[in-house]
Amino acid sequence: MASQEIETLAAALARLPGLGPRSARRAVLWLVKRRENSLGPLLDALEAVRDKLVECDLCSNVDTQNPCGICADPRRDQRSICVVEDVSDLWALDRAKLFTGRYHVLGGKLSAMDGVRPEDLNIGALLERVQAGGIDEVVLAMNATLEGQTTAHYIADRLENFPVRITQLAHGLPVGGELDYLDEGTLAQALRARRPVD
Ligand SMILES: [Zn+2]
Repeated sequence: MASQEIETLAAALARLPGLGPRSARRAVLWLVKRRENSLGPLLDALEAVRDKLVECDLCSNVDTQNPCGICADPRRDQRSICVVEDVSDLWALDRAKLFTGRYHVLGGKLSAMDGVRPEDLNIGALLERVQAGGIDEVVLAMNATLEGQTTAHYIADRLENFPVRITQLAHGLPVGGELDYLDEGTLAQALRARRPVD
């Protein structure tokens, strides 16, 4: 039986995506054995994240500044917004360096099964951004899952009466594919070949 401190740390790590109790325990042991070289830097990084990261009021990206670096960048195209489910999708798309506009993070996807309704997502703020004017194109970059596509259609409906072009990522995306897991070439391709929502 490990000490209470180790149990607590292992339990905290076990809640991370992709880590179960066994891997969490292994990680804790690994860290303890490398206290100087690994635990210190990890602590510093965690502290920096806790103290500095904020959510962007405009797009809900996570950054060390608010508005985030993307929203605050005057070189980015102010007239187009790319809508994504989660911050990880934003980061994946931005790594592909093809989209030059700004983003909007929904914070999830519509899901009857998980009880996620439109009002649970950041959709109202998106409508406000579009309603404020100055937007030419809204790119719906939802994951190629059933729920992602349901979400895209819902948003397309809500935007129907605004004078904006609504496009979505090309269906070169593998079915069930999550943006975060795609390589940058595939993402760039899907973005380049984006098409109007039907
Ligand atoms: Zn932002």
